[in-house]
Amino acid sequence: MKPVGVIPWTEEFFGAVAERLVAATGGDFRDTLVIFPLRRATRHLCDRLAAMAGLPKPLLLPEIVAVGDWAADVGASFMPEPPVTLDTLDRVALLYDIVREIAAANANGPQPGAFPTDMARFFPWGLELAELMEELFRHNVPGRDLEYLEGQVVPPAAALLARLGTIYARYREKMLEAGLATPGLLLALAGENAKEAATRLAGKRIFACGFAVASGAEKALFTALWRQGNLEMLWHGDPALANPGGRVHFACLEQKRWLGTLNARAGCITGGKARRARRKDDPDRPTLVLGAGTANLSSKKLRFFEGHDLHAQLKALEGCLAEGQAADALDSTAIVLPDTGLLSPVLHILPRKDVNISMGYPLARSSLARLLETILTLQETRLDTGRYHWRELVALIRHPYLKMLHAGDDEPLRAVFHALEAALRQGGAFVDPLALEFGDEEAPPPKGALDLCREVLETCLTAFEEVDTPRTLGNAVGGLCELLLDPARSGDAWERFLIDAECLFRLATNVVPALTGGRLADAVLPRETLFALLRRLLADERAPFEAEPLTGLQVLGVLETRLLSFRRVFVLDAVEDKLPGAAPYEPLLPDPLRRLLKLPDSRERDLVAAYNIYRLFFGAEEITVFYRTGSSGAGLFEDKPVRSRFVEQLLWEEEKRLGRVLLPGEAPVSLVSIPLCPIPEGDAAMPKSPAVAERLRAYLAEKRLSATFLDTYLTCPLRFFYRYLTPLAPLAEVAEEGDRAAVGQVVHDTLKEFFTPYLGRDIDAADIDAAALADLFETRLRAHAAYEALPPDGRLLLLRAGRTRLAAMAAGLPRTMPVALETELAASIETAGRSFLLGGRLDRVDRREDGIVILDYKTGGLPGLGQSLWDDEALWGRLSRFTTPDDDPELLETVARRVGSLQLPLYCWLYAASQGETPADAAFVELKETGREKPLFGPRRDQPGREEAITGQTPALLAFVLRHLSMATRFPPRPDARRCAYCDFRPACGARPGGVAAASDT
Ligand code: SF4
Repeated sequence: MKPVGVIPWTEEFFGAVAERLVAATGGDFRDTLVIFPLRRATRHLCDRLAAMAGLPKPLLLPEIVAVGDWAADVGASFMPEPPVTLDTLDRVALLYDIVREIAAANANGPQPGAFPTDMARFFPWGLELAELMEELFRHNVPGRDLEYLEGQVVPPAAALLARLGTIYARYREKMLEAGLATPGLLLALAGENAKEAATRLAGKRIFACGFAVASGAEKALFTALWRQGNLEMLWHGDPALANPGGRVHFACLEQKRWLGTLNARAGCITGGKARRARRKDDPDRPTLVLGAGTANLSSKKLRFFEGHDLHAQLKALEGCLAEGQAADALDSTAIVLPDTGLLSPVLHILPRKDVNISMGYPLARSSLARLLETILTLQETRLDTGRYHWRELVALIRHPYLKMLHAGDDEPLRAVFHALEAALRQGGAFVDPLALEFGDEEAPPPKGALDLCREVLETCLTAFEEVDTPRTLGNAVGGLCELLLDPARSGDAWERFLIDAECLFRLATNVVPALTGGRLADAVLPRETLFALLRRLLADERAPFEAEPLTGLQVLGVLETRLLSFRRVFVLDAVEDKLPGAAPYEPLLPDPLRRLLKLPDSRERDLVAAYNIYRLFFGAEEITVFYRTGSSGAGLFEDKPVRSRFVEQLLWEEEKRLGRVLLPGEAPVSLVSIPLCPIPEGDAAMPKSPAVAERLRAYLAEKRLSATFLDTYLTCPLRFFYRYLTPLAPLAEVAEEGDRAAVGQVVHDTLKEFFTPYLGRDIDAADIDAAALADLFETRLRAHAAYEALPPDGRLLLLRAGRTRLAAMAAGLPRTMPVALETELAASIETAGRSFLLGGRLDRVDRREDGIVILDYKTGGLPGLGQSLWDDEALWGRLSRFTTPDDDPELLETVARRVGSLQLPLYCWLYAASQGETPADAAFVELKETGREKPLFGPRRDQPGREEAITGQTPALLAFVLRHLSMATRFPPRPDARRCAYCDFRPACGARPGGVAAASDT
């Protein structure tokens, strides 16, 4: 029996294998079979054979296979007929039948816990069970009943594990009887019949290359072939494996154990020939004998970069790549990414764009998966009435795949979806988009565009509404694929977006058939189970990038580096969560229980990860490891990341070599810091440019100025600028908590209608019917579209609150005589050398004992009414002396604080100026809570004082604001925590309550 050949992991593996093959066969590869753990290896070996100068060409290549494919063929040869391979759903269906049979047979006996016998409950467990069966087959481990695990796993898992042996035996038996198989079962058959398989292959010269670990079935096959004498194993690892009694690097312990099981010797292979291993570790010759003593990798250039986040790592990587680019154009360089999510950011900083990428890009991270996720979420949040949540609908119609669909040569959906989004934002929280009227009535979208829009909505919404089986779900997903793949609809999009095209291809050819084919396709399942199944199928799919050519700068995942060597290696984000990464949670058979079935657990998984990374390190000359120390998010349980154990091991070796602890930032560790500069607090104020001044002048000349206009300037000049002097408008959003403006309008309309019969009549609370007012409000509200848009609880709340408050208002009505409702008044005021037209709509004008009282209904918060304002002689003195804003820069701020709102003073002045009668008072009717009136003056101010306030002080106040507005040179912000929180222009403003901008004024 041949010794196991160990190609030192400091040497390039495929070159060494090629040399060994030629040395062992003399270049005659007839009846030569080379087995690798992965398919990609074929390409690398062929390249090395092609590059061998002394090998005559053309030549007949050896048969090169991946172990999975080869073992499946061997296993299938032990079945009477070529088997039909079961997909995931078929496996679950078969297991479901078995579980039901077992449950039925035990119907009268003690039932082991919560045996999941209905399909909806069984389905998620079926997926786990099918996965466990595959593992048992692969490792040649017959399943056995694991009893009494209640308390260690959840009841359904305990019940299934208690019958695991029976389930395993029947599963296997049923498949063999029916001529069915899974990849795992074929491997198990090959392992069980290893001796006979070896006999059949007796005439072949076989090489098993690059196996650091193998499954139980694979080991059985290799052992039989090796004992027969026609298998030569070539490993890539620590050459100390060939040194009996020598200390082997811990990452190769699995290989050492395998040697012990085989009771075999190992020999070093260099230059295609076996060499005698050195008896003693030689730190000066680390390339041949590299024992534990040289694990510090001191012969290599080893660097670590510690950064707070990914940005810091990328910055350091960019610097290292620039060095490499200058030295040798980054030849034989690998950037290793433990997480596929790093691919996009890394691609952005690479100096060369012609890089090779070898990694499986998860379909779940693709744009296509995002579209499917939106579609599933739309169904999950849909109301029973068939209406969808507006926000998810907006996400759907904003998806680029849908917007780019063609009708002829045009992409008409961009404009149609734009109009549809505007309509969605104006409507209620839940809408039926197919029944929604949208678009410009004058210029409606073309019919072809509307037809395409309907087709898209039906494909993405209607088709998913009634899914109840995997087949109907698969058909709905298939319909989406057909729409996206239709050349008349997609144009040349998929030729331009290759990754997206590959993802779509995988969805159409793998995921859809998995749902629509097989025995479980027509099983009726709950929607949650079906969607969970689709999400799982998506999570299992990967779009592979295959590097071509195999040289130059490569970007790879950790698994994709297997058997490859690079001169320069960069490993990004080497934190414990990613390298080796946390063991996935297995609800059916958690990690601590795997030993009970002799299945490899997380310890072995970690050893494999260690082997992969150290093999890569030992093959390189220059190793640079980047890791982060700051958490990647701000969530509640975001822990600080821990640097990978492999980084810790290397640093520990370095510290042992130095005999002391490394100081922070001391070589080989560098701390990467990106200097943080605070976002400069720019002046949020807007200058009054000539164009702005012109726009203001035109506004003042053409428009009737309202109380809101003046109050906006008084409360925040910058908000006034955005609102009245720019075309900026707040983004329309659906008011999910209720449209306040619409409710306010309903209240105003109700009160106008209610008081109309009382015009000119002397009434008080006893004369009016509070219940009738509440009923009228309810009728008006129910007929309003804003009410329809509310969820049921919101409607009930609004109705009850509205009824109660209006009834309270009616109950508190003082003796009064309404004389006018919803009255428009206007008057001009002269100041700053010109005339300004002011106006306002008065909700109600009453005549009472003292005279006219103006009432304004307020359904929201009440603005302040500065009662002491009228007696503040100092303020009125400052106002009378005011000529330009520069004279008294603080005056506007003082007035804003003291006045609160100009609305009621303005209404009183308008009434006096236009009707010739000075009102006795004005009041806000507070409808938010009690329905009480809040007067402007109240009983403490006598009639002459009120007269003076309305006809003397108010015009002075109005003139000041108008003059200030006309003469100001800038519009400063006036931040306030309450006001800014509801300001539509907050994103544009940038001022912060309490910030420096708060102090500025003109
Ligand atoms: S956010 Fe505040 S300071 Fe800025 S414009 Fe709005 S109200 Fe004024």
